[in-house]
Amino acid sequence: MKNSFEVIVVGAGSMGMSAGYYLARRGVRTLMIDSYDPPHENGSHHGEPRLIRHAYSGGKSYINLALDADRLWRELEDTSGQKLLARSGVLNMADRSIGKFIPRLPGCAEAGVQVEMLDAAEVHRRYAGITLPESYEAMYEPNAGYLYSEQCIAAYRRLALAEGAMLLPYNPVQHIQADGAGVRVRTRAGEFSADQLIITAGAWFKHLEPFVTLPIRAVRKTVGWFRTEPHFYDAGNFPGFTLETQEGGYYGFPNINGAGIKIGRHDGGLPWSPGEQVAPFGHLEEDEGDLRRTLSAFLPQSAGELLQSAVCKYELTPDEHFIIDRHPFYANVLLAGGFSGHGFKFASAVGSLLADLVQQVPTTVDLSTFSLSRFNHIKS
Ligand SMILES: Cc1cc2nc3c(=O)[nH]c(=O)nc-3n(C[C@H](O)[C@H](O)[C@H](O)COP(=O)(O)OP(=O)(O)OC[C@H]3O[C@@H](n4cnc5c(N)ncnc54)[C@H](O)[C@@H]3O)c2cc1C
Repeated sequence: MKNSFEVIVVGAGSMGMSAGYYLARRGVRTLMIDSYDPPHENGSHHGEPRLIRHAYSGGKSYINLALDADRLWRELEDTSGQKLLARSGVLNMADRSIGKFIPRLPGCAEAGVQVEMLDAAEVHRRYAGITLPESYEAMYEPNAGYLYSEQCIAAYRRLALAEGAMLLPYNPVQHIQADGAGVRVRTRAGEFSADQLIITAGAWFKHLEPFVTLPIRAVRKTVGWFRTEPHFYDAGNFPGFTLETQEGGYYGFPNINGAGIKIGRHDGGLPWSPGEQVAPFGHLEEDEGDLRRTLSAFLPQSAGELLQSAVCKYELTPDEHFIIDRHPFYANVLLAGGFSGHGFKFASAVGSLLADLVQQVPTTVDLSTFSLSRFNHIKS
């Protein structure tokens, strides 16, 4: 393998593999390095699928990025010849007192994102498997759905390599050095140099300190697939969903090919640091208990046997907005991390954006929401 590249990508997971593809497609000599062999089961992208929604809170940056990502996912489907996105619709449900949806409506109207507000009775009329208290409301997004995250990464990998990108799997980056002239990256396979560096290290940013210090904390997250009574929740008739209760926030997916309904909790999670073992599903009674209680209360015909489970990682910033910015000291080093449990849907657009930033192509994405300077008031 050559040792010198135009761009090195550290972390070829959701964001890094996509960036590697868009760079290679533009003819940029790119090396992607990963500690594992992506897609893999150690980071944030396994246990597919992942929701893709467009009716975002958090400003126009997110809605526009979600729409751009959607366009690029469809393009990836065409280029790869694979079905990667199921447009199931997504039903977002919340206790009215949380006030989740009304503030989003003007942004959706402006961006042309179709949404429909439903009361609890209408939700039950459409989906007999959902029981919502009257105090709940719902916002349905007919054009939302879910992505087969591992297959998306595998497709980007295949196409990136076909476009000439190199991938070095099973090689954790041990040391990075940068100056205005370029970067040097050390792995046990040797040292590699490049003009520019992209770091998309997911839950492992802490491992790269002191070269880069970001306000990101990783947490262990658990998801379960539960057997359902026949027909209530089958893919094709039942949407993806989010559910905000007074106790916490959940998300889930229909029963796809008999796998069972998949449900996870967005808030909470045990802290995790690089190098530590991740406790398996069931380590805490609540891993299953919490999910089962929520299903019993809101989707009562789906709280059957636990068929499958997974443990994954979130990497959270203090405000749960992403970090996409240049390194504070090295303009030739780009950082993309802190995807805070809602980043996968954007991976196509983030990869393309990183390629734009490498090539200094003007971008329409408003990067201020994702800038590192927003944390300047935080004392480390
Ligand atoms: C249970 C769960 C459910 C989720 N649900 C959704 C959802 O429904 N919708 C949604 O949009 N998002 C969702 N997310 C979030 C989404 O999956 C993540 O935001 C996204 O995968 C993060 O991508 P990433 O590239 O930052 O991390 P990853 O995909 O984990 O990639 C990071 C890569 O960096 C590599 N790496 C790290 N350090 C080094 C190093 N030193 N040297 C070499 N390689 C290194 C790792 O091996 C890894 O491959 C969910 C996440 C979880 C865990």
